[in-house]
Amino acid sequence: MPLPRVTATVDLSAVRHNLQRVREFAPQSKVMAAIKADAYGHGAVPVARALAEAGVDAFAVACLEEAVTLRDAGIATRIALLEGVLSAEEAEEAARLDLEIVIHDRWQLELLASLLPTTALRVWFKLDSGMHRLGFPLAEAPALQAALLARPNWRLQGWITHLACADDRDSAMTSAQIAAFDAAMADIPGARSIANSAGLIAWPQARVDWVRPGLMLYGASPMPGTVGSDLDLKPAMTVASRLIAVHEVPAGDSVGYGATFICPEAMRVGVVAVGYADGVHRILPTGAPVLIHEQRVPIIGRVSMDMITVDLRSLPRAAVGDAVTLWGPGLPAEEVATWAGTLSYELFCGLTNRVHYRYV
Ligand SMILES: *Cc1c(COP(=O)(O)O)cnc(C)c1O
Repeated sequence: MPLPRVTATVDLSAVRHNLQRVREFAPQSKVMAAIKADAYGHGAVPVARALAEAGVDAFAVACLEEAVTLRDAGIATRIALLEGVLSAEEAEEAARLDLEIVIHDRWQLELLASLLPTTALRVWFKLDSGMHRLGFPLAEAPALQAALLARPNWRLQGWITHLACADDRDSAMTSAQIAAFDAAMADIPGARSIANSAGLIAWPQARVDWVRPGLMLYGASPMPGTVGSDLDLKPAMTVASRLIAVHEVPAGDSVGYGATFICPEAMRVGVVAVGYADGVHRILPTGAPVLIHEQRVPIIGRVSMDMITVDLRSLPRAAVGDAVTLWGPGLPAEEVATWAGTLSYELFCGLTNRVHYRYV
């Protein structure tokens, strides 16, 4: 088979290692692995199989379609729908597939109660402890508890809340969210879940019955200014392409669209077969690094749809055909994301279907 143009190589042993790190941070907690958005661009089915083999307790996905993909692939592990169901059809399908429905709003409560009055349903309740995205007010927990008692066909899986600023170790808001959730839950039975990756890394009080890591399973750090290896996480993904041309460009000539880069001297310029249509953010500026022969070389000029151009002055032996790493071990996605003014989350999710996946 010919070598594909752009590859995302996913190391499933790194994913399993990272699950082990989650367990070391939160040894008393069950683990609900967030594999929404196609496992953050890593491929939901292979990642789910690897994590299921390693004994993960449950998966979290954003929507029914994502859960259907997993069940169709034969994955029998528990799956929670983080945004719940959006319609009667979805509710029926969720029940049929034995999915766990997060109920975050009154309209969902009513939908499920009226449409599926007798169907056995596994439900989680989502409470809003201050982020003001999804969830019932904390003060409604007793009413939800009462609603539950009136529905013998509903099996409560637990109570969820979500932290807005867990990646800030000094966040007063996070302390307040955790304290408010704990207080609201004091007399309410059922399992609790507070922490995403940052929450379970930085906030010991948030390591309760369940933790819900996503990003750290893929080997990236959610904590600003750090990379996964600082936390003994292993990057699971390597995105790579190849040099498809190397030119000698004269001093004073420009490179790429908009002629934004002017060669300060006669220099070797490499062209790499990867662009924003593969998921390399166009906003990456001149100076952002790629890796060739384990050495960082800077991108120069604009990122275009199918290509980027790089400065090869520091790497005279670089030649057509050489591998070019966009991110992976040796060039953390966190660092590339900072150059793009975003987070590694968005780099991972932004890979397109032109990228070929390989699993090792
Ligand atoms: C995505 C998500 C997570 C996982 O977050 P990470 O920051 O990737 O660890 C946890 N909980 C909820 C509700 C989520 O939506």
